[in-house]
Amino acid sequence: MKDDCLFCRIIAGDIPSSKVYEDEHVYAFRDINPQAPVHILVVPKQHVSCADEITGENSICVAHCFEAIAKIAGAEGLKSGYRVVNNCGSDGGQTVMHLHFHILGGMKFSDKMI
Ligand code: 5GP
Ligand code: ZN
Repeated sequence: MKDDCLFCRIIAGDIPSSKVYEDEHVYAFRDINPQAPVHILVVPKQHVSCADEITGENSICVAHCFEAIAKIAGAEGLKSGYRVVNNCGSDGGQTVMHLHFHILGGMKFSDKMI
């Protein structure tokens, strides 16, 4: 846990969140400013700042997140698909420096990425 990290504090329960899923490795909660009818943030409990800091030592946390994503999508009824987004660094639009994946669903997205 990194004391000055917003998502570490949410995982620890110091800051309230709308939890949708939790296991030993992963915590998931609804985005405070949803960009789609379903907008959930999936975060590893281990503090890793961003995708650029994934290494052979910590990459298992990404697998844990994607295992959770499949379960959450099923529970949310996203039968016809969804989008998973990771923003990395300032050019990537990352605002919270704790690795997280956005699940966006409940609508049909454009064919374009941006
Ligand atoms: P990023 O821009 O880093 O990829 O995504 C950060 C996301 O965290 C944003 O979509 C933002 O709305 C969300 N967010 C920021 N602060 C909070 C918070 O305190 N609670 C929740 N649930 N979401 C937050
Ligand atoms: Zn953190």
